[in-house]
Amino acid sequence: MTSNDYAAHLFVPAEAALASLRRHGVAPSVEHYAIWFTHHAGYNPALSRMIKLLEASNDPFDEARHRELYDRFLARADGARMLHETAGRADAALGAVATLLEELQRDATGYGAALDDASRQLTGERLAELAGIVAKLRVETTQMRDRTETLQGELTRRNEEIGALRFELERAEQAVSTDPLTGIGNRRLFDKALRHTVVEAVENGEPLSLLLLDIDHFKQFNDTFGHQVGDLVLRLVAGKLKDSVKGRDLPTRYGGEEFAILLPQTPLAGAVALAEQIRGGIAARRVQLKGNAKDLGVITLSIGAAAYRPGESLAAFVERADQALYAAKRAGRNRVVVETG
Ligand code: GH3
Ligand code: MG
Ligand code: MG
Repeated sequence: MTSNDYAAHLFVPAEAALASLRRHGVAPSVEHYAIWFTHHAGYNPALSRMIKLLEASNDPFDEARHRELYDRFLARADGARMLHETAGRADAALGAVATLLEELQRDATGYGAALDDASRQLTGERLAELAGIVAKLRVETTQMRDRTETLQGELTRRNEEIGALRFELERAEQAVSTDPLTGIGNRRLFDKALRHTVVEAVENGEPLSLLLLDIDHFKQFNDTFGHQVGDLVLRLVAGKLKDSVKGRDLPTRYGGEEFAILLPQTPLAGAVALAEQIRGGIAARRVQLKGNAKDLGVITLSIGAAAYRPGESLAAFVERADQALYAAKRAGRNRVVVETG
């Protein structure tokens, strides 16, 4: 296997493991990760059987369940340490027995003259036999300890590899989820976050709101001042969105000159208040280009707001916010419209 094959071979189960962690909403600790990586890589059939069984019975995969699985199927590093300690103790005990036998043998020799021929022969044979067994056991104990140490080293190395891989994957994931022009999340991130937050809102019975924002007559910035100035306007608006939200609110570039803000744990009224604040803040000042003091005029936004209705599809949810956005355009732009349908 070349190193590239090796990386590709690890990549699929590694990515599947990250997806499983996210699906079950548990922290991506090395232990949790090891469970799913091992499962998806098919390294431990017993673990995989148990996971399939739990999945089939719809048992929740919470932290406690992960701990159970880890202790039962993967805590080999700890098992190895115990084995190592047990081997050490067995070795010491065998050493003590051997010393005792040597003493016995000396005694037997010392008192040999006093013993009759038959019993002396018998004792001698037994002792030799016992000493042989002890010697063999010592060799095996040493070998077992060596194997345990090798296994422990290997496990540590694997764990480090998995940790490094996880870090790389997280970095790669961040890169593919970011819009390079504005530095905020892109459509891919929006779609993913929408799925998560909808599930979470339904499970927890919490409100979830969505704002879709579109720059008014954006084409005119491009046409009048050039594409690069258009890009600057996009950056400026994205920066304003980023600065206007807090906590788990997620502003993303939805496409072109359109943005989306996902607002978990936020009722429609809160979403509308935020939309008004953003709209008003941007419309309140004329934009001047640094350097040549070129006046770009005022940037305005049309915004549609919708709150998730339990049971509706993701597409229907976004569509309602989009309808509200278009209603805002039709009504004259530079305004916030709330879903009605
Ligand atoms: P409306 O008020 O109806 O939204 O009008 P508008 O001009 O904003 O909308 P329209 O859809 O007609 O034009 C959007 C323009 O945005 C067209 C496209 O060339 C431009 N655009 C999309 N992405 C980018 C980009 O990354 N940079 C720049 N400079 N322009 C972009
Ligand atoms: Mg527009
Ligand atoms: Mg548009």
